[in-house]
Amino acid sequence: MNSPIIIKADEDEVLDIELEEDFLKANERMAALNRRTFDRAGARVIDFMGSIGSGKTSIIERLVESLKERYRIGVIAGDTSTDIDAQRIGRHGVPSIQINTGRECHLDAPLVRKASKKLLREGVNLVFIENVGNLICPAEFPLGSHKRVVVVSVTEGEYMIKKKQDIFRVADVGVINKKDMSGPMGVDPNALVEDARMANPKMVVVVTSTRTGEGIPELVTALGL
Ligand code: MG
Ligand code: ZN
Repeated sequence: MNSPIIIKADEDEVLDIELEEDFLKANERMAALNRRTFDRAGARVIDFMGSIGSGKTSIIERLVESLKERYRIGVIAGDTSTDIDAQRIGRHGVPSIQINTGRECHLDAPLVRKASKKLLREGVNLVFIENVGNLICPAEFPLGSHKRVVVVSVTEGEYMIKKKQDIFRVADVGVINKKDMSGPMGVDPNALVEDARMANPKMVVVVTSTRTGEGIPELVTALGL
């Protein structure tokens, strides 16, 4: 039995940006407000960042399958123009919302606020957010999530982490995906684990393969779920 969740808008909810106000600061303010909303609703929220093709959607699909008996899961998928990801998630029988950002190459806190309110109204208590495929600017736009995850795959080559350190510095969990492709690609996943640890010693790093399911239980643990 789900009792209705009532979210009351706070006064500072409206994102009115003064001309001189820093845009990133405004986003951070909204992210903090999102976090309070999530906590009040008793929902855990996790933000997945990574390039197009790194396997974010596949990782989320695996997590949904292993957790949907224990949590009421909802997914927010960010993409510039398609709804491919939300369609894929929908096949697993959980609510999914697609956000199309147009020319924006990242999700921001106001967009996530709108989508997450819809999910929370449906009684969801675990929200996976798939950020727009991009390893640069999502780092600067916190969404209010409890954990931030960055996904890279061995198919992206051996220098991905060394070249994109900023996003690893803001992440709580790093996923080195497509372990099953490490042989054909000639990329050692353990070397990527080392790079990730160098970029952010506090980050928990997990090696996965969404094809075989390897590493998914470890990822669940790393996410505290
Ligand atoms: Mg995707
Ligand atoms: Zn961007």
